[in-house]
Amino acid sequence: MESTQEIVVKEVLPVYNLNAEQEKKEIVRHYRALMRSLRPKLKKGDRELVRQAFEMAAEAHKTMRRKSGEPYILHPIAVAMICVEEIGLGVRSTICALLHDTVEDTDLTLEDVEQEFGNEITKIVDGLTKISSVMDTNTSQQAENFKKILLTLTDDPRVILIKLADRLHNMRTLEHMKREKQLKIASETVWVYAPLAHRMGLYNIKTELEDLSMKYMEPENYKEIARKLSETKRERTRYINEFIRPLKEKIEAAGFQFEIYGRPKSIHSIWNKIKKKGVAFEEVYDLFAIRVILDSPQEKEKEHCWKVYSLITDEYTPSPERMRDWLSNPKNNGYEALHTTVMGPQGKWVEVQIRSKRMNEIAEKGLAAHFKYKEGTNLEDRFDKWFGQIREVLGSQDTDGVDFLQDFKTSFLAEEIYVYTPKGEVKMLPTGSTALDFAFSIHSAIGSKCIGAKVHHKLVPLSHKLRSGDQIEIITSNKQKPTEDWLKFVVTAKAKTKIKDALREEKRKIADEGKYILQRKMENMGAAYNTHNIEELVQFYKVPSALDLHYHIATKLIDLRELKEATLYGDRIELPKPKPQQPEPVADAGGIKNSSKKDSELIIFGESSDKIMYQLAKCCHPIPGDDVFGFVSTGKGMIIHRTACPNAPQLMANYGHRVVKTKWVKNKEISFLTGLRIIGLDDVGVVNKITNVISGDLRINISGLSIESREGMFEGTIKVFVHDKEELDELVNRLKSLQGIEKVDRLDTESVT
Ligand code: MN
Repeated sequence: MESTQEIVVKEVLPVYNLNAEQEKKEIVRHYRALMRSLRPKLKKGDRELVRQAFEMAAEAHKTMRRKSGEPYILHPIAVAMICVEEIGLGVRSTICALLHDTVEDTDLTLEDVEQEFGNEITKIVDGLTKISSVMDTNTSQQAENFKKILLTLTDDPRVILIKLADRLHNMRTLEHMKREKQLKIASETVWVYAPLAHRMGLYNIKTELEDLSMKYMEPENYKEIARKLSETKRERTRYINEFIRPLKEKIEAAGFQFEIYGRPKSIHSIWNKIKKKGVAFEEVYDLFAIRVILDSPQEKEKEHCWKVYSLITDEYTPSPERMRDWLSNPKNNGYEALHTTVMGPQGKWVEVQIRSKRMNEIAEKGLAAHFKYKEGTNLEDRFDKWFGQIREVLGSQDTDGVDFLQDFKTSFLAEEIYVYTPKGEVKMLPTGSTALDFAFSIHSAIGSKCIGAKVHHKLVPLSHKLRSGDQIEIITSNKQKPTEDWLKFVVTAKAKTKIKDALREEKRKIADEGKYILQRKMENMGAAYNTHNIEELVQFYKVPSALDLHYHIATKLIDLRELKEATLYGDRIELPKPKPQQPEPVADAGGIKNSSKKDSELIIFGESSDKIMYQLAKCCHPIPGDDVFGFVSTGKGMIIHRTACPNAPQLMANYGHRVVKTKWVKNKEISFLTGLRIIGLDDVGVVNKITNVISGDLRINISGLSIESREGMFEGTIKVFVHDKEELDELVNRLKSLQGIEKVDRLDTESVT
């Protein structure tokens, strides 16, 4: 059989072939559908405005086509449709969505838009234009732009909502893009857009974005789970019906208006469970959740939710650890509901979510929906607070843009915990926050002086990780000041920024002493303290700046003894130039046998056949046949990762320009180290059987084998050298067919070494 090592990049051909007349009809059909959705929201004069925006966009894009071959204008119409139908936005946003790509891609200018539609719409279109240019430039600039955008976003959240609609439509139509583009866009989506959608409370969109990303980044796993979900659908439906029946009767008898149904969890979230818990699809218990949606008046909804909770837990026993009360403490993104997990028929755990119609709409449409229910909620406050926090951090920030992006993600897009001050005031912090983060969240002066904390009256260190419900008292001392170490255990952007500011200030103070020492020394030798001489010293000592030079002198890291070798030309000094360094040899490719020159012939990059130095990533251990990409690292050449690598989304989203399309060429001479985890029934001959298959039948080299048994089961890890994925797959299949073997999985983490 022909080797299947080569990754074939399929070009998807446009399937679109309509004549001009049909095309026009198609466009009008989409436009009419949009107007129908918008109808309930139209006020006098709106219809004409939307029409004008549509005509303006259609004219501007008239010569453009999407990769699928479709007329371009179908994209802005689809984005507008998502805004109206799926996010619940109105007329102004529809106009902006129709125009969102015009200023960026066509001859239309912001001035044109302003003339027709005025200031409000122009500002949003401007924000959208800025966002779209972000993701394609280099990283630091990208992060820099992202910062600017966040400022726009906090001016008008509609910018980000429309941008999310745009991204959703692009993801829905991603099949027409080239493979490397797909990977890049999909990574960006899981990395930034899905968390952003989550943060804005758009659960449906978040879920769809994640599923679509996975479809492109891990197509095999995606298809497998989708297939298993559909295969088990009937059985699941039967179970759900059985589970629901007694509840329905009870809730009905209590006189509530409600809906109850089972809803499958997303493929992406199931996949996360499989990975995190190391279980098989069949063992993931929460493949679905039951939802009870109550039609209750707003002033009664909380009470009703609790009543229904009580009815449900009368029927099925709840698990006390799995109770989540987001009624009393809604999430930062506005989510309100009561979640519980109960023991259903056949001893299965089932998650039940209870919420009112209003809460459900907010859960699905997020920010936009809450305007409808403005009264009596403090949702607007929550968003305002969130935006306020972002503004505060952005305002005082002069850190590296890439750091910022990371900080932003952990501080603003993560799930939050609720903690309390000694007076009982509630504070929301991102998951993973420590006592020190809490101190900084109260006030930066308290953070800087923090020496410890008491959680529920018990003394804990600064680095103590907080949990929801903790009550924290901060202990301060006037002698305390921030240290470099602190950066390792804070997660909030505010704490990080304040600590870095303080460290920089401290460094400057110390550097002043070094500057004084240097000035005196130079004076003594007859040299001037001027830009030329400082530059000379900076280069000689290989430090990044004059500040660092001064700082190192003060801390005695640089002792200036070498100044004796300096030659003086008047008051100018000259120091011997450092020799050019030998290029660093490429480090060993991480436990790969036969790592000889031949390695560099294994992979072909891009369209050409240029052979390049590379290494295989230690985080995911790719082998030929795996779906891979190349990542240009600084100093180490090309690093090859699997697209399923846990680090892939982060790399591709943040450093897209450094990702290179990579494919394997046939090679049967070199073998690669990989690992398998085997689980089965403990049996005397089991090791023998396994090694027989590996080294006997298949003649594969074993590099390590460890087996642990307990309670009649064993778990073993085997490290083997294989030539490619085909060989590995065969090995896995052979092992699986052995009697008593339950599961064979590939290890894809650092555990292969
Ligand atoms: Mn667009």
